[in-house]
Amino acid sequence: MSKFKGKTVIVTGGASGIGKGIAETFAANGANVVIADLDEMKGKNLEESLNKNGLISMFIRTDVKNEAEIKGLITKVYDSFGAIDVLINNAGISKFHSFFELTVELWDEVINTNLRSVFLCSREAAKLMKQGSCIINLSSTRAVMSESNTEAYSASKGGIMAITHALASTLAEKGIRVNCISPGWIETGDYESLRKIDHKQHFANRVGKPGDIARTCLFLADPENDFITGENITVDGGMTRK
Ligand code: NAD
Repeated sequence: MSKFKGKTVIVTGGASGIGKGIAETFAANGANVVIADLDEMKGKNLEESLNKNGLISMFIRTDVKNEAEIKGLITKVYDSFGAIDVLINNAGISKFHSFFELTVELWDEVINTNLRSVFLCSREAAKLMKQGSCIINLSSTRAVMSESNTEAYSASKGGIMAITHALASTLAEKGIRVNCISPGWIETGDYESLRKIDHKQHFANRVGKPGDIARTCLFLADPENDFITGENITVDGGMTRK
């Protein structure tokens, strides 16, 4: 319960889906959790429900496509809590279109939301992060699977794996670890469409839940696991091994 007591954890896209599961899990483990999300209603509701249970959380409306808003987020968190111990770059969108109908606008929206945000949030947070802190990025199995009409999304997630390796090297001198997680199918807001997925494509014979990813984040953020950096952990019930 108290492993992360007093630690400050920022979760981008923390108002729903996997991010909400991550926020709830770190809060339950004693952390001060900052939910940075576009969705004001869901973000405020989560802040309220966590604080009602005696936990410390703060919603800060943030568009991770916007550099000025990211700078504002990081400054506000640091001024409020005096530290940034864990940054979880989770916000992401998955918009799929026939490749020949993929416009530059849609490409930019996906890349800027999913990948450029990782660069900007990490750069701003890492300026203030101290030795022993860490960054966790959400990639996807789609970065390594061949699937039609996922070009922008897959490129963004492949880019996240690559920036994870580069950042782990760059930030090692500050004692900051950087890792990423590649989820397979996780039951989030889009679950209705997941019902069509054949669960037998997983060794685990089920789709994942946000908690599966949240517990992996806890493991990676645990200071006892400080020999792990520059790593990607696939959490997909064995789907990519089948
Ligand atoms: P979700 O749509 O359920 O939640 C995403 C959250 O991000 C929402 O609260 C949304 O408001 C927020 N968000 C979107 N754009 C934003 C922006 N510009 N600024 C700030 N917040 C923004 O998605 P999810 O399924 O929970 O996915 C979370 C992450 O995990 C994403 O990066 C996604 O690519 C990745 N992922 C998900 C799955 C899956 O099966 N669900 C699989 C692999 C990877």
